[in-house]
Amino acid sequence: MGHKQSKHPEFHRDRLKKEGYVTIISHNKEKRRWLVLSDRKLCYSLSLGTPPKNSTILNNKFRVISENSSPNSIECYLVNKKGKTQQWTIKCETVQEFRAWSLIIKHAQRPNWDDPRGALNCKVCNGKFSAMTRQHHCRKCGQAVCKKDSKLRETIPEFGYDTRVRVCKMCAGKQINEVSETLT
Ligand SMILES: [Zn+2]
Ligand SMILES: [Zn+2]
Repeated sequence: MGHKQSKHPEFHRDRLKKEGYVTIISHNKEKRRWLVLSDRKLCYSLSLGTPPKNSTILNNKFRVISENSSPNSIECYLVNKKGKTQQWTIKCETVQEFRAWSLIIKHAQRPNWDDPRGALNCKVCNGKFSAMTRQHHCRKCGQAVCKKDSKLRETIPEFGYDTRVRVCKMCAGKQINEVSETLT
């Protein structure tokens, strides 16, 4: 079971990769940049093949504020490598590009899932996992939990879950930011 689960794409979020030209608007300045999402970091450079200028670790530090307030744009805030919060608008060239960027940015923010080989007990009730008590993962915090402690289902649009998915007892009803705070 463990081996099979570790092949689940949720364990391999570092493999997410996308790059392409977008317009980045920050401090009222518009710049066409080569944007790269890889290894859960967002970087940009002046053009394809030039070294990246800025990067941010997406998880917990990057939030989509709104989408499409102007066509094909994603407004977000992020913490740059100097620890400063910035607000960006990422304007995509086509609606297809917009959808693809929006989805991959949200996916890259999802929490890492507990490794099934390392998680022996449920994070809520501390009950031991076994063939009878199978391990599940909360989509909001990524922690390994038992079935009875993860009965609830919620949509998590911030992470690109638009249909209801498994959440644990501790995360149910909580905002993403509240969950991130308890984890760090
Ligand atoms: Zn439990
Ligand atoms: Zn949870």
